[in-house]
Amino acid sequence: MHRHGRPPGLAVVVCGRSAPSMVYLERILKACAQVGIEGSFVDVPGEDAAAQERELAAAIRRLNDDPKVNGIIVQMPLPEGVRLRTVVDAIDPLKDIDGIHPLNAGLLRLGYEGFIPATAHAALEMIHRSGATIRGADAVVIGRSPVVGMPLAFILTKEDASVTVCHSKTRDLPDKVKSADLVVVAAGVPGLVTGDMLKGGAVVIDVGINVVDGKIVGDVDFDSAETVASAITPVPGGVGPLTNALLLSHLMRAAQRQDQAKADHAGRGSTSA
Ligand code: NAP
Repeated sequence: MHRHGRPPGLAVVVCGRSAPSMVYLERILKACAQVGIEGSFVDVPGEDAAAQERELAAAIRRLNDDPKVNGIIVQMPLPEGVRLRTVVDAIDPLKDIDGIHPLNAGLLRLGYEGFIPATAHAALEMIHRSGATIRGADAVVIGRSPVVGMPLAFILTKEDASVTVCHSKTRDLPDKVKSADLVVVAAGVPGLVTGDMLKGGAVVIDVGINVVDGKIVGDVDFDSAETVASAITPVPGGVGPLTNALLLSHLMRAAQRQDQAKADHAGRGSTSA
């Protein structure tokens, strides 16, 4: 702030205002305000999916060009018929603080530093803070989405766990979960994992956010799992708030990288002059 004369700016793009997106938006903007970051809401309406895709791409490109915006996040899931590809094609990788651009996804895949999706980052941080040993551990990740399950599987593999990725077509899910020291559940299915499925002492990270009878619950049946696990994250109050905190730390890093890129560019200009 002192060095740059202004706080970093975050833009949260919401395409099709669903109730969960608006709750999330409120939380992230509140987190921004608490630490003096300028958060803004970019509303993308649109009559139908085709119009929404056009408006979404245009909004992201405007934010790419806005020097006051250092980081862009697009609220997931996108409305029915709006392709993730629209975001992937439009977003500037230097402002992609949630690691969706192929450059950042590719850097992660190759084991280099880029922006990793904040939710996967939060799940990893929770495992680290549980004190569990990742090296050599058997890990099960339930969910293979490009924004949560797959990045986390890559990260855990890089940290020397042996990872099994499970999804809706997996046979014998309970059998696979039973052998795991680390269980990360990111399926969006309430009560998918219960205590009787777990190995004693397993570390359980519940990424799921579901609304059941007006209440927010995760993918793990907390009461039964808590008696078996050595550590377990609650929902709400677990991975979600940490995800927001990490997004803001990614934003700071993005602002520094953009400054560095500008300085490098200016340096090249003066050398060639
Ligand atoms: P997604 O794109 O819908 O992916 C869900 C994954 O779960 C898919 O791979 C799906 O398998 C798998 N799955 C669905 N039903 C299953 C079942 N019965 N058994 C095993 N696997 C099953 O969702 P996402 O974006 O990854 O999000 C996952 C959950 O995390 C959601 O509840 C979401 O709200 C939550 N979330 C939380 C945060 C946070 O900050 N805490 C952030 C993002 C998302 P297929 O691939 O075969 O369809």
